[in-house]
Amino acid sequence: MVILLEYRTGVSHEQSRTGAALRRERFDGNCATGRPKAGMAKMATISLADVIWPQACLVVTDVQVDFLPGGALPVPEGNQLLPVVRALMESERFGLLVATQDWHPPDHVSFASSHPGRLAYDVVDLYGHSQVLWPDHCVQGSSGARLHPYLPWVRCAAIIRKGMDRSVDSYSTFRNNWDASGHRASTGLVEYLRGRGVLDVFLCGLTREFCVKWSAEDAAQAGFRVWVVWDATRALDPTTDQGIATALKGLGVGIVRFAELQAAAG
Ligand SMILES: [Zn+2]
Repeated sequence: MVILLEYRTGVSHEQSRTGAALRRERFDGNCATGRPKAGMAKMATISLADVIWPQACLVVTDVQVDFLPGGALPVPEGNQLLPVVRALMESERFGLLVATQDWHPPDHVSFASSHPGRLAYDVVDLYGHSQVLWPDHCVQGSSGARLHPYLPWVRCAAIIRKGMDRSVDSYSTFRNNWDASGHRASTGLVEYLRGRGVLDVFLCGLTREFCVKWSAEDAAQAGFRVWVVWDATRALDPTTDQGIATALKGLGVGIVRFAELQAAAG
């Protein structure tokens, strides 16, 4: 059974742009958790041998038509992750599957079209934080907002829709970005996963340096053991890969590849 949970989170994405790299300031370390990066204690390395698979959740992040080649905000090589994500979803290894779906009103604050005189990929200040302005994407009810039809969404127990509040963006699937009062509202996913007895969260989807990274940070902060299935994600700007991997490892997040999961789960 598919349970559709329509949280008013303002997600946004990251979508891609072809060509030049996104500006570095978009990846500032203040992003998801607000925790300081400098001086952070080195976390212990986690092991797949410790995973209790029935209590592991796969979170498939925003694999939507607009974020793949041909869409409004295509992530370079985004289509290459489809077979890997499908194999993960069909593996029957995870006790729970959850999906997220970017789902914006037409006048969403993350759209450049909502800011007269601004262009897509400009960076502006929004409530004291950097905000990338994206091309219009994943508009509610549009064909581009569809979850990609190649993947077996029927297996997901919940679909978390994000970005429905026009005034707030949200990269993480667990919390919005900052609102006007400086808060990051919860989507309720932490409580949902806890209620289902989840211990390990495996993240895949789009994109590495925004939604996946921010979600990993929030999941780690919430106390889950967190993994990013690296070859089941793609970045808008692959030059950020090293920095993203280092930052996540510094938080104790495991970086794994699909083949390692196959071997670990037998
Ligand atoms: Zn978005």
